[in-house]
Amino acid sequence: MSHSNSIAGTSTTAIHGGLRPDPQSGALVNPLVQSTTFVNEAVGKDRGYAYSRVSNPTVSALEAQLGALEDAPPAVCFGTGLGAEAALFLALLKAGDHVVLGDAIYGGTVRLVQQVLSNLGIEATFVDSSDAENVRTALRANTRLIFIESPANPTLKLTDIRAVAAIGREAGIKVAVDNTFLTPVVQRPLDLGVDVCVYSTTKHIEGHSSSLGGSVVSRDEELLEQVRFIRKCTGGIQAPFQAWLTTRGVKTLPLRIRQHSANALSLAAALQANPNVKQVNYPGLLTHPQRELAERQHLGGIHGGVLSFEVVGGTDAAVKVLNNAKLASLVEHLGGIETLLTHPVTMTHADVPREHRLAVGITDGLIRVSVGIEDVGDIIADLEQAIEIAHAEPTAKSAPTATPEEVCV
Ligand SMILES: *Cc1c(COP(=O)(O)O)cnc(C)c1O
Repeated sequence: MSHSNSIAGTSTTAIHGGLRPDPQSGALVNPLVQSTTFVNEAVGKDRGYAYSRVSNPTVSALEAQLGALEDAPPAVCFGTGLGAEAALFLALLKAGDHVVLGDAIYGGTVRLVQQVLSNLGIEATFVDSSDAENVRTALRANTRLIFIESPANPTLKLTDIRAVAAIGREAGIKVAVDNTFLTPVVQRPLDLGVDVCVYSTTKHIEGHSSSLGGSVVSRDEELLEQVRFIRKCTGGIQAPFQAWLTTRGVKTLPLRIRQHSANALSLAAALQANPNVKQVNYPGLLTHPQRELAERQHLGGIHGGVLSFEVVGGTDAAVKVLNNAKLASLVEHLGGIETLLTHPVTMTHADVPREHRLAVGITDGLIRVSVGIEDVGDIIADLEQAIEIAHAEPTAKSAPTATPEEVCV
């Protein structure tokens, strides 16, 4: 099935790709195999499975399905997205190596690099990858990996993935993209020339806020083998039931992403028309500063389910909006079917110095919305009433601030 710059066929692949009815029972849905171990028919003779830390049929089904979505061999699945990232880093980096990362990547990735990899003698440089030339400038003789994310969280700034992939290829350095925000339905980094994608399948891919997971997807068999080896050695494989739930989620991924995207665009337009909203960040808006790149890089004319907006009135107003939303929930999560709100300044980015935050566009009144697939009129009405209350009430004395433990779960 061809996917080049079109989503035609994606739903068929999501429902059938890599999956077959169970040959033994005829079960239409792939079975949940909870067994930790597999019987050998004779000494030295197994049926491809030995022990579920190494591989498991239910996890294999998800891996085939996720690989098929990107015209790649089976993915390698992990218990969480950070588990997948950690294995990727351990597979590709060793003491004395250097990695270049985008400066607007997931906070947990930053923590892993700065507080864990650094202790293993792995150096890192963070750059504003929205200008690809910054990536080139940061390369050193010992650089072994470039790691980026587009769109950036929570500012929705884009990185030109094809340009960064070309820089990596020219220098003989592997390029990885965290494609959690858009999923392969909207963005296919492997088609743009990168070596490997990582996902937190916990987000849109499973989609129902009910299962943690992570995956590594690549067309480079040797890289996949290295990642599988790290997984076997460190024990990060996904549990069968979580994989089974994720497979069920993937089947409706294209359908959900189209609805998430349509709802996000409608909400973005409504917020833009609201006098108490200063700015709306969404790649689907004509006003997005990288509109041309968004059209070139995203598939099917859609731009995913996440947007952010700045409410007039700073932190106080943002806190009131969040406290008065009724349909939408205040969480440190995204990608579920429910509309989910986050206040980066008091939640995900509370430990980032204010000047640094402001420099990258994370203003006090910024609210991130993971737009759900409820009826869009209800989503818009909920946020509009919350914004109205925020601007009718007198200003609160002080806003709550997060403790370090609450930051970046
Ligand atoms: C949530 C998230 C992760 C981490 O995934 P977990 O499944 O929570 O470990 C990594 N990258 C991005 C972009 C995320 O949103």
